[in-house]
Amino acid sequence: MAISRRGFLGTAVLGSVGLGLQRKPSDSSPEAAPLKTARKPVLICAANGFRYLDEGYQLLSQGHDTLEAALRVVRGPEDDPNDDSVGLGGLPNEEGVVELDSCCMHGPTRRAGAVGGVHDIKNVSLLARAVMEHTGHVMLVGDNATKFGLEMGFPRENLLTERSRKVWILWKEFNSDRDWWGPGLADPHWHAPTPQGKPDAERWRQALDRLQELAAAAGIAPEFRRAAIQRVLYPPTGTIHCSALNEKGEMSGTTTTSGLAWKVPGRVGDSPIIGAGCYTDQDVGSAGATGSGEENIKVCGAHTIVENMRRGMTPHDAGMDALQRIARNYNNDKSRLEYVDMTYYILRKDGAYAGVSLWTGYEPGKPHKIAIHDGSKRLEQCTPLFEGVSQEWPPMPDIPAELRQQSAW
Ligand code: ASP
Repeated sequence: MAISRRGFLGTAVLGSVGLGLQRKPSDSSPEAAPLKTARKPVLICAANGFRYLDEGYQLLSQGHDTLEAALRVVRGPEDDPNDDSVGLGGLPNEEGVVELDSCCMHGPTRRAGAVGGVHDIKNVSLLARAVMEHTGHVMLVGDNATKFGLEMGFPRENLLTERSRKVWILWKEFNSDRDWWGPGLADPHWHAPTPQGKPDAERWRQALDRLQELAAAAGIAPEFRRAAIQRVLYPPTGTIHCSALNEKGEMSGTTTTSGLAWKVPGRVGDSPIIGAGCYTDQDVGSAGATGSGEENIKVCGAHTIVENMRRGMTPHDAGMDALQRIARNYNNDKSRLEYVDMTYYILRKDGAYAGVSLWTGYEPGKPHKIAIHDGSKRLEQCTPLFEGVSQEWPPMPDIPAELRQQSAW
């Protein structure tokens, strides 16, 4: 699959032309002239923050702090019990505990804060800010990060909503043929393992029927069953990043997530890692990431992007370079890279921005998008390094194509 160069130029130039600040897209001279400051505030974020951009933009327009505006945006999905990738209602780890990660960087004071593996506190982006403002540290993790939050007055909340709990139970039940979760041998529903040699389509049809039954037994609402089954078969990811720029040229960024569904307890992804999930230097710009956290940590994605821009690259070139580093880590082997998903959200000090992704999207016709507010609010398609869709993890190559579509269940 080819690198999409046309889309890349389109985004880079559009972002700059809109502000009348065009620079040569391939200007990589380290002596590039200092960037001018944007003439209007700009907010960028992942698509799940779209509906909260107005509130953040209003704060920026009224002269509020850039971090406050970015936090206002990401707080939306954190508070939303139906966004199961962030905050309240996030899908839990394999033991049913919702563990949240977040970080923030405040450009004007050049400070940072982060928390990892927090439970029972939903607004971990605000907790990351509290670490920044109330301690001499940058990062707290696990039980002690939670304890710090409770001491700071954050309310203790059960983050496992009924909806997420039921999907977790469905995941446990479905995978229980290989563990001591039911059905046991004495269970009337137990049946001997499917004999080898049965056609894949038939085995999968039976498995999907069983999932439907289990979902009904777990009390999952009929209209959510397909989505729940998909979350069981293909543990989803999801996160929100937001970067903010004001008229004074101040910048901040934040990223918050519940991380991978069904993760190993204690797993921390890229989102709370300063330099991976988020990085801001208001002399240059701000960047953040969503997607396969392990891959992003290895290339320090957000920091790499900001440093690329410091050396004169456009937001788009800077992001593409980080994606190419991920590809290089697998020797550009697409049979592995197709299981990697990565999107970068990039904002330069002059207001130019870009959204870039490793693949076009998760499914045909649904490209990755970046949300922007610079006076008008919109979603724009990210420019992919590789055209095509990424595959869900874990690989299940024997699911017949006709059963892969949710509509088949
Ligand atoms: N990057 C997040 C993590 O690895 C997940 C995601 O963005 O989807 O925890």
